[in-house]
Amino acid sequence: MPPVTLQSPSKLTSGVIAPPPAFHIMLKPRGAICNLDCHYCYFLSKEAMYPGSKFRMDEALLEEYTKQYIAGQRVPEVTFAWQGGEPTLMGLEFFQKSVEFQQKHKRPGMRVENALQTNGTLLDDDWAAFFAQNDFLIGLSMDGPQHLHDAYRVDKGGAPTWEKVMRAARLLHKHGVRFNILTTVHAANAPHPVEVYRFLRDEVKTEFMQFIPIVERDNETGYQEGDDVKERSVTAEQYGQFLIGIFEEWVRRDVGKVYVQIFDVALAAYSGNRPGLCIFEETCGSALAMEHNGDLFSCDHYVEPNYLLGNIQEIPLIEMVGSPGQRKFGTDKRDTLPQYCLDCEVKFVCNGGCPKNRFIETPDGQPGLNYLCAGYRAFFNHVRPHMNFMTNELHNRRAPANIMGFMAQQDKRVQELFSRANRNDPCPCGSGRKFKQCHGQARQASSRSGRK
Ligand code: SF4
Ligand code: SF4
Repeated sequence: MPPVTLQSPSKLTSGVIAPPPAFHIMLKPRGAICNLDCHYCYFLSKEAMYPGSKFRMDEALLEEYTKQYIAGQRVPEVTFAWQGGEPTLMGLEFFQKSVEFQQKHKRPGMRVENALQTNGTLLDDDWAAFFAQNDFLIGLSMDGPQHLHDAYRVDKGGAPTWEKVMRAARLLHKHGVRFNILTTVHAANAPHPVEVYRFLRDEVKTEFMQFIPIVERDNETGYQEGDDVKERSVTAEQYGQFLIGIFEEWVRRDVGKVYVQIFDVALAAYSGNRPGLCIFEETCGSALAMEHNGDLFSCDHYVEPNYLLGNIQEIPLIEMVGSPGQRKFGTDKRDTLPQYCLDCEVKFVCNGGCPKNRFIETPDGQPGLNYLCAGYRAFFNHVRPHMNFMTNELHNRRAPANIMGFMAQQDKRVQELFSRANRNDPCPCGSGRKFKQCHGQARQASSRSGRK
């Protein structure tokens, strides 16, 4: 069940206005238009919502948006988030103008940040220099090494794009631009977590990574409808194992050096803080999306007619953000959770995940369970002892990275136990199986190959 169905802009914005002190809007100045044709993209189909449009935000609207967005924030910092489609298709001048408008309209003492998500294929030295000068934070989309990235990320002619994205990463490094990598996890790369992670860490040399699951609905509308998914989607179990696979490498050698978004979320929640990412927060509704013509939607994942809040040329932005309909969109995330989630031991960090993926049933037949539940549950349970260790370090004003020394000692102890275990002993790893049927299999295989 989607969180709420918004009937019309007029109904939606009537009633008490209760805007949050800060909110976030993903702006799509070129709408759904992109130079690539990634097979799993959820946004390309949105082009059909605006037949005949040029899909270009004009300067007057850009300034109006800038003014209203800044005025609506009751905090001293504001982040402009650029997305698409592909935002760089607007050309560099558009972004130069945008920075000018930000400077013109910001309040004294206000800090303005820019974050831009790109496929990277159109970047050159001019773009990179501009990003560096204006301290843009860039999100670069890359799904791993060439054979995994090019599985689905192709251009309009079906040609691979990996080489161009690698060139973009080199350009960003060359100009000292801050960037993170956004990797989608899908049927092609999900079985290769460590290969993907090592590639991003060692070849792309990024310190910031996000792993976003592809859950692609199989329907004609492109909206969040139906309960079938396309075969490119990651399964819940695969996603959980993917995260666990990367975590096992990270926790032994990269804590404090490489930042993986969902690991940060887990540590925040385990140490008693809010998860800090809308999909794992109890409620949402403060991360909206705006189309090239000023249409505002409840969320980037709900750019569809039933979630249209109105247009900023007709209704003040702050009124739409604080409208009862939008507040309900956010609180429904908490209020529609099935009992299965309410009773779950990792609810404090998962909170049922994003409503867009809540389309399966619980084991006892209640609707509204997240498609990714099994993966989230496996991952958040798997990391509990590590998170508890790191939380303890934090509470004692020590570095969470101390966990790496602890893991090294523990691995050494387990290796010693393995070396002493007999075939029929319980496996020292604690699986409950006999050693010969568990970690002893590797020893048997190597002694067999040694005999050949
Ligand atoms: S619907 Fe999902 S992605 Fe959108 S704001 Fe809510 S939790 Fe975040
Ligand atoms: S792990 Fe599953 S049951 Fe637990 S809160 Fe998340 S979605 Fe609900």
